[in-house]
Amino acid sequence: MSRHLFDLTGRTALVTGSSRGLGQAMAEGLAAAGAAVVLNGVDAARLADAAAEMRAGGHTVHEARFDVTDEAAILAAFATLDTRGVAVDVLVNNAGMQLRRPMVELETADWRRVIETNLTSAFVIGREAAKRMIPRGYGKIINIGSLTSDAARATVAPYTVAKGGIKMLTRAMTAEWAAHGIQANAIGPGYMLTDMNQALVDNPTFNAWVLARTPSRRWGRPEELIGTAVFLASAASDYVNGQIIYVDGGMLAVL
Ligand code: NDP
Repeated sequence: MSRHLFDLTGRTALVTGSSRGLGQAMAEGLAAAGAAVVLNGVDAARLADAAAEMRAGGHTVHEARFDVTDEAAILAAFATLDTRGVAVDVLVNNAGMQLRRPMVELETADWRRVIETNLTSAFVIGREAAKRMIPRGYGKIINIGSLTSDAARATVAPYTVAKGGIKMLTRAMTAEWAAHGIQANAIGPGYMLTDMNQALVDNPTFNAWVLARTPSRRWGRPEELIGTAVFLASAASDYVNGQIIYVDGGMLAVL
């Protein structure tokens, strides 16, 4: 075998929402495995800081600032990458948002915003990536789901529906694109320590529930997604298609 199974040298990975949190950790992990990375986010300063930090670590880093709910901006970003000769070999659809509200109080506009940000974005960006991967006969797509890809929880209905949709979008991508050498899979993180969850960590009742409910008795750290991300981005997963791998300290495995 000419290539180490987990080696990403020569590959380029676009990770949406990689200016912080889980996306930033996965981008760093993919870069450490040899990939050039395209970082994305909305906040210009945060994106620039994340890119500078990774460049200081010796990695090849491109920046593509766009809102994942803005289709015109997505098309423009891919056109710019095309012009610069940057081909996306690995796409991680990670950008997402949470909104906690009981369904009877939830405005339709907020429902749509959560679905657009967490699910429709993965379709649009996945489509644009796949259009370019199919002629090359190669591509790895990693969609970021959640425990709510498989289980519901009160006050997060649109997020639950979007993440359930991510699991099925991953299968739909598999049905259409696997024959073109594209592996589409998903990661379902458990409760991880990021900005998105800071209010929950700071809430003693919720924090105690997470610790008691998670068999490993702790929150996950962002860098604990790296192994699964590198696996799904690399040759090690070349016959793994349409799966969702939960990285959750065992939470979904137990009652
Ligand atoms: P954070 O809130 O910490 O970070 C979100 C990232 O996404 C930021 O880089 C942010 O950019 C970017 N982002 C948000 N909205 C958009 C947008 N409209 N367009 C472009 N970029 C955007 O989130 P996490 O790291 O915690 O979550 C990342 C993913 O993992 C999400 O899909 C989330 O649903 C999922 N997840 C998280 C879990 C957790 O426990 N944390 C558990 C399960 C799933 P900016 O800095 O510019 O705002």
